[in-house]
Amino acid sequence: MTERQKSWVDSAQDPEGDFPIDNIPFGVFEASSGDGGRVGTAIGDRVVDLEALASAGMLDELPDTVRRSLASSTLNDLASFGRPVVGGVRAAIRSLLVEGDDRLRSHPDRDRIVRPASEVRMLLPFAIGDYTDFYASEHHATNVGSMFRPDNPLMPNWKHLPVGYHGRASSIVESGRAIRRPCGQTVPQEGPPPSHGPVRLLDYELEVGFFIGAGSELGSPVPIAHALDHVFGLVLVNDWSARDVQKWEYQPLGPFNAKNFATTISPWVVTMDALEPFLVPGPPRAEGDPENLDYLRWGEDVAVDLELEVLVASETMRERGMAPERISLGNYRDMYWTIAQMVAHHTSTGCDLNPGDLMASGTVSGPGEDSRGCLLERTWRGQNPVPLPDGTERKFLQDGDDVIIRGWCRRNDIRIGFGECVGRVLPAG
Ligand code: CA
Repeated sequence: MTERQKSWVDSAQDPEGDFPIDNIPFGVFEASSGDGGRVGTAIGDRVVDLEALASAGMLDELPDTVRRSLASSTLNDLASFGRPVVGGVRAAIRSLLVEGDDRLRSHPDRDRIVRPASEVRMLLPFAIGDYTDFYASEHHATNVGSMFRPDNPLMPNWKHLPVGYHGRASSIVESGRAIRRPCGQTVPQEGPPPSHGPVRLLDYELEVGFFIGAGSELGSPVPIAHALDHVFGLVLVNDWSARDVQKWEYQPLGPFNAKNFATTISPWVVTMDALEPFLVPGPPRAEGDPENLDYLRWGEDVAVDLELEVLVASETMRERGMAPERISLGNYRDMYWTIAQMVAHHTSTGCDLNPGDLMASGTVSGPGEDSRGCLLERTWRGQNPVPLPDGTERKFLQDGDDVIIRGWCRRNDIRIGFGECVGRVLPAG
């Protein structure tokens, strides 16, 4: 076991912290309201302003074009250079933060470049052009399928291709933004006629998203062995879902208004390079599962050993100073379809990729009851409500509820995390 490298930023040594020297994620922040976005990284409880770092002459070894991309208000330009270049940027930043290096630590502008994270506001990291949501957990697909089609939970295509749909990019919001309970068209238990009003069965979906860095040409499928070259990094995703709307609208073309009112993402994008030590062989296949077709098969394919938890805090819990209650704990490695398979399938028609496209995994559910990644499954459609410490219980989300998603990877004594993906439910307007 190699000794863990340290940073001169003391808080980066917190063994339970998300942002040690091993992470160096990318994000966009604003230092004061309305000053636009600034590209940064997180180290311990600090945020490093990368444009200011470059202006101070400390990233001069990077090409001009790359340094200029750090002055943007999104990560799109930086990510478009692809993984080797971004890896070089990460390495340059890391070398300035490592213990024993005094270039930044002793710099006269240090306090302008390295700011307390508590004093900045995180924004969306990318201008997101396109958003695709998959359905890659066998446990989730089987659980949901068996509620609606007990005899036929998995559709015949499910183990042959990663099922997905094209989602709505405009309503993807940064962590911390409140979510207003939407109105929608639903039918009562006994069937039509429908009515329109505030949705009753509001749910979260615990997902992992990945951002595209280097794009691909329209008409040129990305072979699976090159798929990960196009992936910039990962974020946590809450795909807010209105189950009563979904049930009425989903046939024949899939989700629409049930999913388009809000999707929350965590602010820091953890790069594929940072995740490298936490990659494990993938994907899991049971005996009797069909062989995947060649374009979905890659001998070196990997899953990510990423632990995930969902917590809920009601308004009453917050008033009484109670800690948020963990509702589920799962792991992203349990997914059936991998990131590389999703990219290969998505582009197999020649569909192009662009920097800043977001793809999400679909609900991450594991084999156990407490690893189910949404309330629909966790409460089995409301039959087994989840108790909260304020004495109430949840079948679905109530107004005032905070939903908090956290994720982290751990190997030996190294732990890197994603920060939080948080949203509060406001009453319907
Ligand atoms: Ca979803």
